[in-house]
Formats: sequence, structure tokens, C-alpha cells
Amino acid sequence: MAWHNRTKIVATLGPASNTDAMVQQLITAGVDVFRINCAHADHAAIADTVRRVRRIAREHRRAVGILADLQGPKIRVGRLRNAEPIYLKRGVDVVIDCTPGFVGEAHKDGSICIGSGYRGLARDVRAGERMLLDDGNLELRATSVEGERIHARVVHGGMLHQFKGINLPGSEVSASCLSTKDLRDLRCVLANEVDFVALSFVRTADDVVQLRRHVRRQRSDVQIIAKIERPEAVRNIVSILAVSDGLMVARGDMGVEMGPEAVPPVQKRLIELANRARKPVITATQMLESMVLNPRPTRAEASDVANAIYDGTSAVMLSGETASGRHPVRSVRIMEKIIRTAERDVYARMGDRRRRASTAAATVTEATVRAAAYAAYEADVRLISVYTETGTTARMLAGERPPTHVIAFTPSQRTMQKLALIWGIVPLKIQPGRTSHELTLDGDRILRERGLVKRGDRIVQIAGTIRQSGLTNTMTIREM
Ligand code: PGA
Ligand code: MN
Repeated sequence: MAWHNRTKIVATLGPASNTDAMVQQLITAGVDVFRINCAHADHAAIADTVRRVRRIAREHRRAVGILADLQGPKIRVGRLRNAEPIYLKRGVDVVIDCTPGFVGEAHKDGSICIGSGYRGLARDVRAGERMLLDDGNLELRATSVEGERIHARVVHGGMLHQFKGINLPGSEVSASCLSTKDLRDLRCVLANEVDFVALSFVRTADDVVQLRRHVRRQRSDVQIIAKIERPEAVRNIVSILAVSDGLMVARGDMGVEMGPEAVPPVQKRLIELANRARKPVITATQMLESMVLNPRPTRAEASDVANAIYDGTSAVMLSGETASGRHPVRSVRIMEKIIRTAERDVYARMGDRRRRASTAAATVTEATVRAAAYAAYEADVRLISVYTETGTTARMLAGERPPTHVIAFTPSQRTMQKLALIWGIVPLKIQPGRTSHELTLDGDRILRERGLVKRGDRIVQIAGTIRQSGLTNTMTIREM
């Protein structure tokens, strides 16, 4: 089995990559988790995509996760007449009509009206506030609001295409975090048994709790990733993290809402907090943006990917690069190479990071995984193997940032797929065993078969007593 990077790669599927051949090549190139963007996919396409990924992952005997990204209260420009873009000239007045279904156009007399799918927009915007369109490329300032109509003046002009995003950096968006579309999408992705659901534009812990309630009602154990892209979410990060299973540093909208200069410090802080909580964190958006067109990344982009690894991110993500770009597979290959090189370099410093991030071990499991990571540092160990039912022990062990790979043996396909996102974990399937002895024999056989160990290699193994599920309490160092 080839060396597998410990920082995981999330790749977004889209028109440039959602075929059998491409998914196959992307998995071979190093993708661990595929992201489906619900904003752009209908339900039949979602079901097809999930089936495709599951089938190909099985053929490759690889644990591959699927993350479904819910649009959340993303506000967008409505349809434009004949889908024709409108040129917004600086200083010109524009009306934003929030009536549902309103179709925008530039009239002969020079007046411009555009629609917005979100009715509450006219309620949330006050005169004097800024409105950013198309990832902040265009800027309007509201001059007055009358009923459903917002009057605004163009501050930074440019071409406006239909369905582009609208951000309101100054105001609190009152829309519920889960729209009717999100709830419909959620039912679809849960029925298709995805592994992760990401929620866009989270503002408070309550947004996540609401989603969790819907998930429970549908008897799903899906993991919830809170996308941090609003300033309120950064302010409420501690309580949001406490109720989420992981975070995404959603740098695209964050850069629009908080300014690009806010992104680096927020990224570092979110990664640090998630690491301490032993929860995965995905660094996302524009990582290799220029590769949407070009075959090579800029040096700044290479540095950005590497720096996220130095920060301690669990995973890095590709969006347009793999969804609609010209070089999806090449983007993953280059990302993999940057990760591999950076990891070789940070390797020596991982011990410091681990000790820095350590808090007092509060449980038997925490003490055991820490002992395992410590032993791996001190005793020239080839790998750590862990037997895990729900994946919790593996996740906690990963949080110690051990210096070797961690092989997580589990009988559960679901657990394998969830562990695909966890730093440093190589999930492998094992037959359910009745005694720890049986599990160990089977695990050792798989390690040898896959060429992960040679005779005489030293390994660290951690396990629990079968009778008490959830309790990991033994650590052994032995020779194969
Ligand atoms: P999006 O989220 O790609 O769904 O907008 C990521 C981001 O905003 O960075
Ligand atoms: Mn976003």
C-alpha cells in the first residue's frame, strides 16, 4: 500500500468531474472525501453521484467519504431577462425587487431592476448599508427601502450575471438557517446515506442544533460540519464548535463578509480550536484557484496549501478546481504533492504541537491514546493500530498527532467512510470478532497482506475490552 498523506483532501464534484472515469482518477490521485454542492445539484443527480462514488470506492477498496453541502441562507441575485448580464455602472441607481420570481432587466430608459430570491432582504437591509454582489466584485449602497423594493447606488461597478451571490456584511440576516430547499435537500442526502452534511452561513449554535434535530428525526447518524463564513459565527465559535462534529473554514464568503485580511487569523484560530476539541477542520476555497484555468498553481497558492498544514488543518478542499475547472485530476495530484512535501517537513515538529495542544487527560480512553502516541514517539514504531467501532477512539488518537500512520480497523463501513476525513487515519475493514484475540489475529493478517508491516517491525496497538463498548483501555507495544 502506498504512503498515504495524513492531511486529507476534499474535492468538489461538478460538471468537470462527475463521471465514472474522473471519479476513479480522482480517488487514485488522493481524494479522501467528495463534496456535493446541493446548490447546484438536483435530487436525481445527487442519488446518481452517491451511487457512483460508493461503487468506485468499493472497487478500489478505499474508504471514501461523501459530504453534502447545504446552501443555507445564501442570498442570490434572481433571474435576469434572457439570462443576459447587466452592466452596472458606478454611480447609477438600481432597484432590487424582492418579490419572489421577479426577473431583472435593464430598461430602455436606463433604469435597472434586479430580483433577489430572498423576500426578507428588504427587511434586513437598512439605508446606508453595503451590499456586495458576485463575491464582492460589485458593491452597492442602499439609499432607501420601500416595501419589497430596495433602492441602491452602484459604488463598484461591473458586469452582473444572474444568480450571483449577495452578501450583507453589515447586517444580521434574519432568514432561518435552513430554508425549505435545504430541508428538501437534507431529506434527499440522508436517504442516500452521505457521511457528512455541511451547513452554510451558520450564525449560532442554535442553527446547528436545529439541523441536528432534523437529522435525528430522520434517524441518521450523519456528521455535521459547520461552515464558518459569517462574522457572527466567528464570534460564537466556541458554542458552535461544541455542538458540531467539525468545522469548515469557508474562506470564500468569509473574505467577502469580513474582508480578506480577516481570513488568515480566523483560519489559524478555528484550526487551533478544532484540534483541541479533537474535531476535524477543513480549510476551503481558492486553495489552487488559478488551476481552474492553468495547469500550474501560483507559488502563493502552493504556500497557502502548505501553510494550512503547518497550521494543523485536518483537510484541505478543492472547489471550482475540481468541479468546473480545466484540470481536476492535475489539481488533486499537485495538492497531494504539496501536502506530502509539507508533511515531511513538519514531521519533526509534530511532537511539539501535540504537547502544546494537550490538555489534561480526563478519561481512560484519552489517557490510553496519549500513551500510544507517546510510545510511538519514543519506541521507534512502524505504525499504530486501533480497533474502533464508532471511530471515536481513532479520532481522539489522531488528535494527539502521533508520528506514525494510524491504521483504524473497524467492521463498520459507515465508520470507515467517516474516518476518511480524519487526519492521519487509514481506515481498514475487519470482520467483526468476538474476542480481542480474534480481532488482533485478523488485524495482523491484514497488515501483513497489505505490506504495511514486515517481520520484526514494532507496532503499537490499542484496544478496548469487548464487554464494555466505548472504553479503550489497553496499549501494547509488540513485534510482528
Ligand atoms: P461555498 O462555501 O463554496 O459553498 O460558498 C465555501 C466558502 O464560502 O468558502
Ligand atoms: Mn460559502
